[in-house]
Amino acid sequence: MYFGSVRFFKHVIVFVTILLIIIPCVFCFILGSKAAELEADNEKLKAEIGEYQLSGHQSRYEADELFSLYKENLENKDGFLKLAFEYDESMYKAAAGIESETAPTASDAVITAAPESTAEFTHSGTIILNDDPDSINSGVPAYQMLYPELYADVPDNIVYNDDMDYVYLTFDDGPSKYTQNILDYLDAYNIKATFFVVPDGSEESNARLKKIADKGHTIGIHTATHEYNKIYESVEAYLEDFKIAYDRVYDATGIKCNLFRFPGGSINDYNTEVREELIAEMTRRGFIYFDWNVDTSDALGATWTEMYNNVRTQTIDKNRAVILMHDYNGGWNTILVLEDIIKWIIGNGKRTFHIDKLTEYVKPVQF
Ligand SMILES: [Zn+2]
Repeated sequence: MYFGSVRFFKHVIVFVTILLIIIPCVFCFILGSKAAELEADNEKLKAEIGEYQLSGHQSRYEADELFSLYKENLENKDGFLKLAFEYDESMYKAAAGIESETAPTASDAVITAAPESTAEFTHSGTIILNDDPDSINSGVPAYQMLYPELYADVPDNIVYNDDMDYVYLTFDDGPSKYTQNILDYLDAYNIKATFFVVPDGSEESNARLKKIADKGHTIGIHTATHEYNKIYESVEAYLEDFKIAYDRVYDATGIKCNLFRFPGGSINDYNTEVREELIAEMTRRGFIYFDWNVDTSDALGATWTEMYNNVRTQTIDKNRAVILMHDYNGGWNTILVLEDIIKWIIGNGKRTFHIDKLTEYVKPVQF
């Protein structure tokens, strides 16, 4: 009798043992090849992002968008490529000089030269200095005559507020689809903040800007394009971009901004050549720039816990803290942690901080 015999049970044991070995092996093999496939896709997408950035699309904003799309959905290759194409198209238009809403208009190049100036402007905005030796030796850079109406309206001798123990929340790169969430949290705690904006001139963007303004927050200029390579090419290029953003904010809100924040901060890898002249020119025009001394690192991909800890550790020893955050379409983590950050600032148990918006009466925090 084979069934029930010792031999039978031996065979059962051997069979089960073999199954126990074979089944995990098969699973390992299947999962291993799936992982290798995903890894290959991953590498491919990374390479595409790398190429894309290398091809001159080095704006952090664009890279962030691409990277978050990439992270959110590795399989959404179509979405990724579509986005890349959209950027390519706008880059193509800019490079080909095709006029679009964002392109500088001819009116930007119409200059009224100051009476004492001997410079002339061609239709395209190029400056031609005449042969008068006085004008050549006057030492006044030609860009000072660009946009004669682009001056900030701030008092000459500002007496700064005595603002010890103040915290200033600042949001760069907005408005975005999350602007309303930010405004809601600020409202809930009855606090004011500062938005350094990237207006695109669209109806949606204008409506969001108007909401920020109506709530009494400060709006400062960030940039129109956020393309480091372009805006830091020269003082003229920076002014051109700034003017576009400045006009858009004015059109949307009626506000003439006095404050601004340089994309990437006043000291960055892209503005080494023009930095000194640029800061001098913007200051000459009365505009006041703010950098930051607390960085949530939200746009660098920090998790909300990291953001929270960054604020706690960097703020606690500051008498005045200017906190860098972002209001951009990839910025969901910022929204998730914003209320906790506000709560910590107000009631951290160690120091009493006030939260307020930046104005020209706040002593600038600069690198
Ligand atoms: Zn920015």
